Amino acid sequence: MVTKQQILQWLQTFVAEIEQNKDYLTELDAAIGDADHGINMDRGFKKAIAQLPTVADKDISSILKAVSMTLISSIGGASGPLYGTLFLQASTAVAGKQDLNEQDMLGLLQAGLDGVLGRGKAQLGDKTMVDVLSPAVTTFQQAVAEGNNTLQAMQRTVAAAEQGMKDTTPMVAKKGRASYLGERSVGHQDPGATSSYLMLKSLLTVLESFS
Ligand code: ADP
Ligand code: MG
Repeated sequence: MVTKQQILQWLQTFVAEIEQNKDYLTELDAAIGDADHGINMDRGFKKAIAQLPTVADKDISSILKAVSMTLISSIGGASGPLYGTLFLQASTAVAGKQDLNEQDMLGLLQAGLDGVLGRGKAQLGDKTMVDVLSPAVTTFQQAVAEGNNTLQAMQRTVAAAEQGMKDTTPMVAKKGRASYLGERSVGHQDPGATSSYLMLKSLLTVLESFS
């Protein structure tokens, strides 16, 4: 079971992880975008967690929804609406829940991915966050189907996410600002794929700390 407390800790851990990697994310974006991904993520997620105390006594869905609203309204750039939609759809998938079993977690992750796909229309191989989120969801689903608990499934998911992140380096960007570069985007890891990997890694960090 993933508890509400763990979800709150996940968000805190992710914010700390973004802060640590703020310059790195911005450098990645400088190579193929406009050098603001670390800044966008840091500003947006810090603002999002600042108001968590006001929803901390509500269910998990309300917490994720509050995060999504702040992201949509306050991160500039493509990543605001994309991460905002991810959290909004994730919140809808776990309506009313105070803790999440394996199937709930699968529903949350799948809905988040579907939100990003619906909003950004990227496909696998377009060199975006989808190249991390899509293999992550597939791996989590398979792990749960094989009888893994959430911790075990997340260990496999984060490994798949890391591979997906690395796999963006040789890709030609087909979506977002990086797509303006065409072939010149080759040889650089995608910033959004990198932040999505950090998001999943932060969840694993929290689950491992409780196990
Ligand atoms: P912007 O590109 O507007 O400056 P950011 O720098 O914050 O926004 O985010 C860039 C990241 O957003 C990219 O690295 C990519 O992963 C992601 N991205 C951009 N467009 C899309 C899209 N259509 N679908 C999915 N992800 C996208
Ligand atoms: Mg940018």
